[in-house]
Amino acid sequence: MNPGGVLVIGIDGGTWDVFGALAESGVMPTMRRVLDDGAHGELTSVVPWYTVPGWTSLMTGANPGRHGLLHWVRCDPADYWESRRARRRFTASTDLGLPTFWDVAGAAGKKVAVVNMPITFPAWPVNGVMVTGLLTPAGDIAGQSHPEDALAAYPEYRVDLRHAKGREAEGKLPPLETLLREMAEVTESRRRLMVDLTSGDRDLTVAVFVGMDRVSHRAWAQQERIVTEPEGSWGETERLLVDYYRSLDSVIGSLIEAAGPEATALFVSDHGLGRGPDRKFRANAWLRDAGYLALRGGRVQQAAYASRLKKAARKAIRVWRRRAKRPAEHVGVNMAATKAYAVHFSWCPVFGIAVNEWGVKREGSVEPADIPALLDKLTDDLQALGDPDATGPVVVRVMRREEVADGPQMNRLPHLFVEVAPRYFPDDGLRRRNVFEPMETASGRHTREGLLGAFGARVRRQFRGAARIEDIAPTVLALLGLEAPPDMDGKVLTDLVQPADALQAAPDAAAPTATAVRLTEDDRAAIEQHLRDLGYEE
Ligand SMILES: [Zn+2]
Repeated sequence: MNPGGVLVIGIDGGTWDVFGALAESGVMPTMRRVLDDGAHGELTSVVPWYTVPGWTSLMTGANPGRHGLLHWVRCDPADYWESRRARRRFTASTDLGLPTFWDVAGAAGKKVAVVNMPITFPAWPVNGVMVTGLLTPAGDIAGQSHPEDALAAYPEYRVDLRHAKGREAEGKLPPLETLLREMAEVTESRRRLMVDLTSGDRDLTVAVFVGMDRVSHRAWAQQERIVTEPEGSWGETERLLVDYYRSLDSVIGSLIEAAGPEATALFVSDHGLGRGPDRKFRANAWLRDAGYLALRGGRVQQAAYASRLKKAARKAIRVWRRRAKRPAEHVGVNMAATKAYAVHFSWCPVFGIAVNEWGVKREGSVEPADIPALLDKLTDDLQALGDPDATGPVVVRVMRREEVADGPQMNRLPHLFVEVAPRYFPDDGLRRRNVFEPMETASGRHTREGLLGAFGARVRRQFRGAARIEDIAPTVLALLGLEAPPDMDGKVLTDLVQPADALQAAPDAAAPTATAVRLTEDDRAAIEQHLRDLGYEE
């Protein structure tokens, strides 16, 4: 790497709770060096603390009100049920709408490389090399890299796990042990490409690993055991987990070595992870019971759904939806009588409430002037909400979108973000009778605080604080001697690293544009299955 270069290592779902303990026990010697000789702290994600907005804000330095990307799928702001996939397309790099920090660096003449960052498919022209990450379709498809032949010399490189196919064949999820073995192999398959792209004439390399998030969504309990219990009590799964973390640490070690002593490495995450929930809270069922959301035929539809005819009722609703050719899933909901509905972020303990706003939504029913009073009432009702079978509050905090975001994409955000207590999983359950229900899960839950670390030439070792995810983009640019574009929301983390001496004004950089890649129905189905297999969707 050129002197003064920057290596950004992204750990999806990274938390020091796991990395720190494994560094301590000798499983992750590279991370031990980062803790001993570098700086570390927490990286606070955006609201909601979820993979798509987290990485997008990290890449662009913009808050979600400016990029408007919250979901795996992209819909029109007029549509309902934003997180659902019916007839939607997957979020693509062309939806970012803002330049990333490596676009700015590239425009200033810096040589960049980006490997495996989520939501970067299709790849777009950068001043160097880009290999796309999560949401890249499997197989031989255009758009996986820039230049197009970047992977030609790396036949071993694997864009992602293969096991979506396995599920089709067996009709169930692949065994955890298979997933863990494959994850270590995939991590190893990235080594040669990532090392080459961190060596030589390079100013900035961004390398992302998503394995930790996957492990944590499939095997949180076993992961806790490798952190808290002695090796003698481990089973096969625990040993495979440790093998995975060993291989991850080893690849990271190779990258730091390739970057050389004059480079600075930053460790970042899109959110953290913690112990999973044990109760479901069905937000749309609650809105229905509280009179904010109306089903067509009301109790009849709900009763049909809950009865022994459940299967038939579900099928009827599916057929109904197909016939109606609606872009969203709200057929069966009386939108004219619906004031608000809930929007989900899977394992994040936050859900959104979107108002059925007149002039914005396709069948909007609430006048803009009536929204403040409606939000006040919703907030009061949410705060008074109790779980009949458990003690303690359900709702921890209700946030107006204006409190947590700001920008031209605000109408892509729900009006309220509602944080629930960690034991609750916000679920949909529009037609279910019970608002609350116990749940058993192997999955961890997202936490807002993730991992931040720095190692190498320009690090201030005394740092022990926290930073915001939007601060990473301007900080990387400052390390490279560049000012951040004026519209980035984050600030340079001068207490974590020492920026270059004089900063050059930021050049104009364009938002990603890529040649449109047409996905087939099969590609789309495979991505969807893949997300579900990996635990991103309930
Ligand atoms: Zn994530």
